[in-house]
Amino acid sequence: MKNIVIVGRPNVGKSTLFNRLAGRRRALVHDLPGMTRDRLNQVVSLDDGRKYRLTDTGGLEYGDEPMSAFAAEIRQQAQRAIDEADLILFVVDGTAGPTGEDHDVATQLRSSAERTILVVNKLDTRAARENLHEFYELGLDPIVPISAEHGTDVEDLIERIEALVPETDDEEEDDQSIRLAIIGRPNVGKSSLLNRLTGEERSVVSEISGTTRDAIDTMIERGGKDYLIIDTAGIRRKGKTTDEAEKLAVISARKAIARCEIALVMIDGTEGVTAQDATVAGYAEEEGRAALILVNKWDAVERTETLAREVELEVRRRLKFLSYAPVEFISAKSGRRVEKLFSTIDRIAGSFRARFKTSELNQILERAIAGHAPPAHRGRPRRFFYATQVKAQPPTIALFSNIAEPLHFSYRRYLENQFRDALGIVGTPVHLVIRAREGMKGRLSKQRGR
Ligand code: GDP
Ligand code: GDP
Repeated sequence: MKNIVIVGRPNVGKSTLFNRLAGRRRALVHDLPGMTRDRLNQVVSLDDGRKYRLTDTGGLEYGDEPMSAFAAEIRQQAQRAIDEADLILFVVDGTAGPTGEDHDVATQLRSSAERTILVVNKLDTRAARENLHEFYELGLDPIVPISAEHGTDVEDLIERIEALVPETDDEEEDDQSIRLAIIGRPNVGKSSLLNRLTGEERSVVSEISGTTRDAIDTMIERGGKDYLIIDTAGIRRKGKTTDEAEKLAVISARKAIARCEIALVMIDGTEGVTAQDATVAGYAEEEGRAALILVNKWDAVERTETLAREVELEVRRRLKFLSYAPVEFISAKSGRRVEKLFSTIDRIAGSFRARFKTSELNQILERAIAGHAPPAHRGRPRRFFYATQVKAQPPTIALFSNIAEPLHFSYRRYLENQFRDALGIVGTPVHLVIRAREGMKGRLSKQRGR
């Protein structure tokens, strides 16, 4: 995916432009105390349908301090943009005319001029229109004047972006990011976790009228790896009534689950598992998604080993169908154990995408049968000839058998667990499909001659 990075002094309108391109207005972003907010990073889909990763280098605290206090940071950000961006949007404030800092950044960017667009913002003001020609001094081309706030000529800018970013075949690369969906009923703490993970304070988001870009996924990076958090409209857009919110939550959870690899199923640890939790979690299992159960708000309970065990038992009992999902106790609010989730997430993603050797699968099947022979089907002994993985995401194993009928539930569960344990599969369902093969020669040595 191509990177577009927005740079410029504070207050020129970078985040306004970011929101405009991302299609939504975000409340002004400010740092959470004690957190280093990383840059705002989001996948946007522009008019040509291509996806870009858009980064706002913002995040500078600027209160009463003089602008010059930020010179060093602005420089650093510009440098990062040069290092990482496929395209740099250098935003300047038209009302002010080119300032000394603008000149500095321009000088820095000149080595990357061929992938820089100079965006002169606030064109809605008369001052900006009058100053426009002065920006040619910066020696950058093209210059695109816009009003980020009013959306004027933003379409022009998008066209320029599309023309300047070369199209490449990087679908594969896109697939590398691990796709997560945070699901759960209202108030369990989904937005809090999202904010924690993206490191930004998102207030309730309202639409900019006239923009229709819908779902916005958020890309985050940890340890050099990309994770895509699939937009669950319900995370941010709070319904008016509890009833509405719940319906919305269910609908958006379903949509997000359909697109994710790993469902982060969130439970409120102060309330335990409710029927609605079970409903929402059930979709993850139905869709064959990997899952990680997060018991949230663990800061708000008397944390003891006993309680953790009790809650885990309750989760296991009420969410039986997610028996494959690990359970983690976290606090989205304090951040406790949140960063540790990524190692679990990586292991789960590894399992979800894994491809196993046929020889290994057959050895496991052989051992499993030796431990526990399959039950006969209506008096006919069932035999297995062969196992092979036919699909990943989740791992789906075909078992060639003399009988086409599905396996008895408990034997299926037994085999699934045997495969899961032997293959070290974490957080991921294993699907078994039966393929009938009449008169096939038994490949499994244990069955030969029987
Ligand atoms: P950032 O610090 O560069 O991210 O700047 P912001 O996006 O926070 O904008 C700084 C200020 O400029 C805010 O008060 C915005 O409302 C204002 N602003 C942003 N874009 C425009 C524009 O197109 N026209 C006008 N008149 N004001 C704008
Ligand atoms: P959502 O509806 O699932 O997105 O839930 P929110 O993130 O909006 O959180 C609902 C409420 O639970 C808010 O008042 C949060 O402050 C609170 N909350 C979220 N996470 C935690 C947590 O880890 N601990 C505590 N004590 N409260 C939390």
